[in-house]
Amino acid sequence: MKIAVIGAGYVGLVSGACLADFGHEVCCIDRDPRRIENLRAGRMPIYEPGLAELTAANVSAGRLFFEQDLATGIRDAEVIFIAVGTPSRPEDGHADLTFVYDVTREIAAHLKGYAVIVTKSTVPVGTSDEVERIVRSLRPEIEFSVASNPEFLREGAAIGDFKIPDRIVVGVEDDRARAVMAAVYRPLFLNQAPMLFTDRRSSELTKYAANAFLATKITFINEMADICEKTGANVQDVARGMGLDKRIGPKFLHAGPGFGGSCFPKDVRALIKTGQDFDVPSRIVEAVADVNERRKRRMGRRIIAACGGDIRDRVIAVLGLTFKPRTDDMREAPSIAIIQTLHDAGARVHAFDPAGMEQAREVLGDVTYFRDPYQAVAGADAVAIVTEWESLRALDLKKMHGLMRRSILVDLRNIYVPEQAVAAGFTYLSVGRGDLE
Ligand code: NAD
Repeated sequence: MKIAVIGAGYVGLVSGACLADFGHEVCCIDRDPRRIENLRAGRMPIYEPGLAELTAANVSAGRLFFEQDLATGIRDAEVIFIAVGTPSRPEDGHADLTFVYDVTREIAAHLKGYAVIVTKSTVPVGTSDEVERIVRSLRPEIEFSVASNPEFLREGAAIGDFKIPDRIVVGVEDDRARAVMAAVYRPLFLNQAPMLFTDRRSSELTKYAANAFLATKITFINEMADICEKTGANVQDVARGMGLDKRIGPKFLHAGPGFGGSCFPKDVRALIKTGQDFDVPSRIVEAVADVNERRKRRMGRRIIAACGGDIRDRVIAVLGLTFKPRTDDMREAPSIAIIQTLHDAGARVHAFDPAGMEQAREVLGDVTYFRDPYQAVAGADAVAIVTEWESLRALDLKKMHGLMRRSILVDLRNIYVPEQAVAAGFTYLSVGRGDLE
């Protein structure tokens, strides 16, 4: 099939490369000329494991193309995925649909014959209806369908998630669109990936409900961690005991500094707004957003407290900046609020991240970056681990201790064994496990 994907970001690029790998002919379109230039030259605009290889293979097989001009890119496409960003509107948290509707109008202007226009971006309930209304009002003569097909991939594991998904959710309002979408994903249900057809509104809401539920799970275990700290319990044991219950499951029960990233915070805010707009406010989801926001800064204050309460002119090393491992994405990373709190208290911040330092420079203020974790901790008064990158999981703690001015280790991801950190000479604080000196 001929497919166009508009927006060559994390979702658009991964979807485009994977759909091409299934054998479809795919054109990824982005209005950013540098992005297209880089992609054509084989340079990836984002860090995602395996993406460069998958892209290169499909480009050389003649199935994957990159185009800046939308009219050229969607020519003859049977399916047009909209995969542009839907960031939070700063005023009220509603998803900003400017990019989605801009693209919709452009598609309408250049549509030549029947195509299925698919909202793959995460969009509030009713957006696909509005996409249909816009196209119909601009091109009443043309035949088209609109489908909703939210994406559930995780950055850092995106290709695996796209190719072997837990499920594919497709919202359609007509049989023709349903048949086309079934053909797009046929290679996947040969792999027995469940394909769930719903109406468009249910499909749109499913994405928000899933993300809000996962965000709630994280926030719940973080609150349990706080209770563990005050009562002498160990949150990892509690989480394991809970997670072995099949009704609960072990995933997303890792206590930490709060969730961040390009999706959870903004999707939680957008769902809250939807609830308010329809006069059915979700008090649970509102609490999750509130608790999580406060938590990030509290983690900064925790580092300050670990240093005795005064960190003016002290050096704090922060290891791991991205919102999670295996990505360079800094959007709403907990490290941002934590470092802001440290700066506000007068500290100097040294930092290291395996992939996110370039992006971090754009969002963090006065931070000194180092090429490896040992350089970052040299001369520091304390070190905080904020993202659980694999390469940060087995640091030589004795070596670190020898390099630092004072030896305080605040492990916000619980990746070290407390007794081992103490044996290496550290005062060790983690999340929900009791502190050791
Ligand atoms: P992104 O910011 O990485 O990419 C969006 C791309 O769209 C950019 O390259 C931008 O230049 C391009 N774009 C914007 N307007 C355009 C236009 N008019 N014409 C052509 N290109 C245009 O965004 P992303 O992280 O890929 O997210 C896209 C959507 O997918 C969002 O709604 C997001 O919530 C959702 N989503 C993201 C993830 C994730 O892990 N990143 C997972 C699931 C769903």
